[in-house]
Amino acid sequence: MTVRHDHWIGGKAAAPAGGSYLPTLDPSTREPGDEIAAGSPVDVDRAVTDAAAAQPQWARRSGAERGELLHRVADVIDTHAAELMELERVATGKIATQLRFEVEQSAAYFRYYAGVVRAHHGRTIDLGGGSHTYTRLEPYGVVAAITPWNLPLNQACRALAPALAAGNAVVVKPSELTSISTVRLARLASEAGLPDGLFNVVTGTGPEVGTPLAADPRVGRVTFTGSVATGRHLARIAADRLVPATLELGGKSPLVVFADADLDRAAAAAVSTVATNSGQVCSATTRLLVEASVHDELVTRVVAAVERLTPGVDFGPIITEAQYRKVLDFFARTLASGLRPATGGTAYADGPGAKGLYIRPTVYARVAPHLPVAREEVFGPVLVTLPFEGEDEALALANDSEYGLVGSVWSGDVARGLRLAERIEAGQVAVNGGPLTVETPFGGYKASGYGREKGIEALHEYARVKTVSLSLY
Ligand code: NAD
Repeated sequence: MTVRHDHWIGGKAAAPAGGSYLPTLDPSTREPGDEIAAGSPVDVDRAVTDAAAAQPQWARRSGAERGELLHRVADVIDTHAAELMELERVATGKIATQLRFEVEQSAAYFRYYAGVVRAHHGRTIDLGGGSHTYTRLEPYGVVAAITPWNLPLNQACRALAPALAAGNAVVVKPSELTSISTVRLARLASEAGLPDGLFNVVTGTGPEVGTPLAADPRVGRVTFTGSVATGRHLARIAADRLVPATLELGGKSPLVVFADADLDRAAAAAVSTVATNSGQVCSATTRLLVEASVHDELVTRVVAAVERLTPGVDFGPIITEAQYRKVLDFFARTLASGLRPATGGTAYADGPGAKGLYIRPTVYARVAPHLPVAREEVFGPVLVTLPFEGEDEALALANDSEYGLVGSVWSGDVARGLRLAERIEAGQVAVNGGPLTVETPFGGYKASGYGREKGIEALHEYARVKTVSLSLY
């Protein structure tokens, strides 16, 4: 039986003012799932009203008190991990390891900011006597968080935890494809003791919910994760209102492998790029740049490993029929340009992969850098390889992109790895598989966006600085 999920506003389930609901689909089976409330500007208004009413009292609490409640949200994520994983699974079709990682990561954000907020203070400024001058870190009030479908809970929590820690109330507009886990988490957070009105969820489409939310005059800051086109649209709204925005957008990130690298680990990183979430990851390193002397050897290994991946076991489906068609269109256009894949390039004709929206992990080798498949974000399990000679060409190719989200460099010469890290135009660079975690700030250069999530930096994004100065005489 189809269940209908309402919004979560002011600590309660709220039916949509318009009375209608939107369908969802399990992409691993193409079967219909539960329905979500089709939000409207009326619902947005209610949520922002409740958020604005709850926020001042929250902001007056100490960091320690807010932190205590965030710890409780982390605990409730842990105790309901299996249920949250299942909600994510039916919405995205992801494999268990990926689901577990996302739910654990969601709890980790709350735990991290619950602690860090206790050291989040202004400073005194010594002006040489005669005054007492200090800064305060104050919240923006109501934060609008508009999130995508590829890591739904993780992206909601990445914004919620620092925004709440800094004393804001939040209205989340999750992707209409994957809203149910976020609504469920809001209810669990209320049950764990988070005061009503601080964590609201209004579900529905971008134009009906996302746009009016960003445009609401009571919203003090917008944080968006999603496509470049939507990011531009929301940045314009924020600019018109003169409120700040954080934009976490797409990528076409380089994975640079030198001949002296540990080729086994570099190959595993390339395989993971296509397998993880079927390449539907903003930070996927989908351009494999390999030093010419080991190019063919590495690509042969990657192709062999990619061909061993099993749909539903090693990787999940594409999230929607539209995105599935878009990836297949990419294949058709690439073939028409004369380029054949080294492996993949099709959907599954039979077997378990044909039941859901699965696409064969695909590698295009020795791709000319000007081709669309080497430049555009496909958002599917697609890797392109490009050979290079020497450090300068590696760097030129790595930076030959409108995007700048991440870079990955593999080399036995650590100094060279760090030289590249310094010159790659991206918000984060991993050398020899260095970890990027809740503690490490995350965000884009160039068309990958601006502002930073994660790390202490995110806490600062959700607070504004006020200077207070008192004359002592
Ligand atoms: P999208 O831009 O289509 O949607 C993202 C969110 O914006 C959804 O909630 C959607 O409903 C909403 N939205 C869409 N149109 C809107 C409008 N006109 N007004 C207001 N809101 C609107 O993106 P998507 O397809 O869900 O996600 C895929 C994209 O997200 C990829 O480009 C990917 O690289 C990017 N992404 C970036 C990061 C990051 O952290 N940098 C993480 C994940 C995904």
